[in-house]
Amino acid sequence: MTLFPEIFNSYMSESIMKRAIEKELIEVHVYNIRDFSANKHKKVDDYPFGGGAGMLMTPQPIYDTYKYIVETHNIESPRVVYLTPKGQVYKQEIASDLSLSEDIILLCGHYEGIDQRVIDLIVTDEVSIGDYVLTGGELPALIMIDSISRLIPGVLSQNESFEEESFKDNLLEYPHYTRPREFMGISVPDVLLSGNHQKIEKWRLEESIKITKERRPDLYKKSCKK
Ligand code: SAM
Repeated sequence: MTLFPEIFNSYMSESIMKRAIEKELIEVHVYNIRDFSANKHKKVDDYPFGGGAGMLMTPQPIYDTYKYIVETHNIESPRVVYLTPKGQVYKQEIASDLSLSEDIILLCGHYEGIDQRVIDLIVTDEVSIGDYVLTGGELPALIMIDSISRLIPGVLSQNESFEEESFKDNLLEYPHYTRPREFMGISVPDVLLSGNHQKIEKWRLEESIKITKERRPDLYKKSCKK
């Protein structure tokens, strides 16, 4: 649910997202909240009661968009995620959890945000993509669509697998190297050319641990608990 549906079209028609839609592994339907405004000028925002800067999205068009989606797609008790800086900070674990849901409705705010009553009525989860403020929820929604979709079986091909990526077991990923063997005088680590898979795995795990310890001591602590 968005006031700017066009933002989604270009992203969804490229690369892995495009392929996933073509293969019918995911469906993405974009609904323009403005289309559901009962106002004769299709107005979707208004001044906040109590004063203050900026405009707020009014509840009626959002609620009617939600009702339409639920009825059209015959969805029972969907996860409805409002993208907001006030939400729980987005993590791979949340993407994994949401990837198990059949239907997810994403609500993108704009202006100063949304009338609280419609949030209370329809939203099940509030998610922030980080401690900064954007102009709208569209980029955060795309980030969620992308990160959730790639966890759906079949969306990534085998050699794009997410099994060994950053955040798996709370470790960041080891460094990668491709051809040429030497670039600007820097060689690929010998172990990767050794053909010894046990040694390669050991090296990769050690590198993962090293980089996580250096960059994300918080994650490293968690990885030790497992
Ligand atoms: N007044 C709000 C506040 O202080 O929390 C910020 C509103 S922001 C300018 C407009 C919209 O952008 C929000 O309703 C939300 O949908 C989206 N947004 C902005 N930053 C975000 C973030 N870090 N994560 C998720 N959504 C965000």
